[in-house]
Amino acid sequence: MEIVCSNCQKNFNTVQSFICPFCGYLNALSRIDFFSYLGLEKNLDVNLADLETKFLNLMSKYHPDNFVSKSSQEKINAQAHSVYLNNAYETLKEPTLRFIYLYELANSEEIVKEIDSNNPALFIEFLEYYEELENIKDNNSLKAFQTKLQQMKNKVLQENAVMDFTNKELAYNIYLKLQYIDKIIASAKKAKI
Ligand SMILES: [Zn+2]
Repeated sequence: MEIVCSNCQKNFNTVQSFICPFCGYLNALSRIDFFSYLGLEKNLDVNLADLETKFLNLMSKYHPDNFVSKSSQEKINAQAHSVYLNNAYETLKEPTLRFIYLYELANSEEIVKEIDSNNPALFIEFLEYYEELENIKDNNSLKAFQTKLQQMKNKVLQENAVMDFTNKELAYNIYLKLQYIDKIIASAKKAKI
């Protein structure tokens, strides 16, 4: 986004970073969503390698160690950017958190956080996976099962990469799906063979 550098008063775009390209001043964090902050499309399907590269690049620019000899305001700005950047990275890295974030951006309200039995068909679909998990007796089968679940999760993300988050019914259904998959993945992690 376009901002005016509070040090030299020149305009610049924060697409590279909040560091002014004219005078090198690190400007204060202003209202910006996590995707734009990291230079990513607002998309449910994020390339994790790309996300990490962008995160590390910005972290090397904003790290408070770079600002020890700078003004106290710039130190505060560096601190705020580092916290926000970490937050953005942690949120966008995890698909279900990313989903919740996109929903909340589109609707300016929180999504209902708990799954319930509102969708019996979906519940039955996932019940089958629990039964499958219970019948797994060796490590190779468990690994294959976990891979299958991860692929299922990736497929949900890819298929809905550019979904309309203001369609709340659709969003809620996908959210339920992601939560069911997460729960089975968690159960599979704890499974004793
Ligand atoms: Zn400047």
